[in-house]
Amino acid sequence: MITNRYIHPTIELCTKCQGEGIIIVYPAWDMLNQYGEAAECPTCEGSGRVVVSKKIEVTVSPFKNKII
Ligand SMILES: [Zn+2]
Repeated sequence: MITNRYIHPTIELCTKCQGEGIIIVYPAWDMLNQYGEAAECPTCEGSGRVVVSKKIEVTVSPFKNKII
């Protein structure tokens, strides 16, 4: 039997900016990454935190223990 379970949304640290809210964006021509500019993180929109919702699939099967 397979059931879906929903976990309450939790607030977690943004993994894209490590909670800073700012990322460094380098122009495409800047191969050595020397001319980066700070920009608002598009994932958390500058807050450094994100709301994470989870849905897990649970499989339940009978336990058939063979005792000799
Ligand atoms: Zn972020």
